[in-house]
Amino acid sequence: MSATTKARRDTPPEEATAKAPPPVTERSSVAEKRDPGKAPPAATTPFLLDFFPLEGPDQTRLARFFERLKEGLLCTTRCPRCGALHWPPRVACPACHAEDLEWIDLPSTGRIYAFSAVLAGAPLGMESDVPFAVGLVDLDGVPLRIFGRIDGRPWKELDIGSAVRVEPLPLADGRVFYRFRTVD
Ligand SMILES: [Zn+2]
Repeated sequence: MSATTKARRDTPPEEATAKAPPPVTERSSVAEKRDPGKAPPAATTPFLLDFFPLEGPDQTRLARFFERLKEGLLCTTRCPRCGALHWPPRVACPACHAEDLEWIDLPSTGRIYAFSAVLAGAPLGMESDVPFAVGLVDLDGVPLRIFGRIDGRPWKELDIGSAVRVEPLPLADGRVFYRFRTVD
């Protein structure tokens, strides 16, 4: 194992204790890594392990999802031709291949269908968050079951059927993703 590899492995936990939340620090370094004019940062997440890929309208036709998420709303696509409701949002309907899809906002609340706890082996950037819960949530009023991390109550206090709501997770470099949070 090279010295470079060792340094990369050693550095993230130190950053994780200095700055919260750790995932943001990790992912913000990825954008810097793509700039060829800059010296590489001390710690980087390998591009292929970046969980939140490019979000801008010049990079993805799904940019609206991230724009709405910054406003606190989940949205997805629906096919006006065959009526299929998609998750995750699509650029083409997997049922009939139509591309003129429409965007619809989704409910921000739901209930836990199933969950599990991450006790070890967490993804890069989330090592210091262990233990945490991930699970499937049935959104209220729509036939969609969505996977996500569930924050709020400790995982041992979660129940099947617990109420949760969607919340945006801002990242330091301006991107955004979502998590669920328990509603008490
Ligand atoms: Zn369709």
